[in-house]
Amino acid sequence: MKSYYAGMELDAPCGRCKGETRHRILSITDGVPEKLICVNCNSIHKFRPEKPAKSEPTPRAPRMATPAAPRPSTSPSRFQELMIQEQAGSRARHYSVAEHWEEGAWMDHPTFGLGRVQRRNGRKVEVLFREGLKTLISG
Ligand SMILES: [Zn+2]
Repeated sequence: MKSYYAGMELDAPCGRCKGETRHRILSITDGVPEKLICVNCNSIHKFRPEKPAKSEPTPRAPRMATPAAPRPSTSPSRFQELMIQEQAGSRARHYSVAEHWEEGAWMDHPTFGLGRVQRRNGRKVEVLFREGLKTLISG
């Protein structure tokens, strides 16, 4: 916002000069110039603030209710489904390197929690945990 002070010069429309001329502020009320003196014709008149541009009442665009984007079926939730479906909790065995893990077996891992063996590859198994696929050693 523009700040005004007495003595400040500004361009304002002058009734006598019929146009915009240089004016000097004589007094200020509430931070707004009150009286101006036209430098051109020395007439004192009230400051007429520029009329705010006529603004069309902009109809507020009705906010489209944005439907919640369908959540992509994330693997954790699918994993959870599977876990419940297969009652993994009761079927899972505690993980140990010595244990032999077959595909489809449920594992209770001290770090990763419940996991399901996806694939056996030699002495390694790929186990799907809530946080993702991990490769573990199998007996
Ligand atoms: Zn004037």
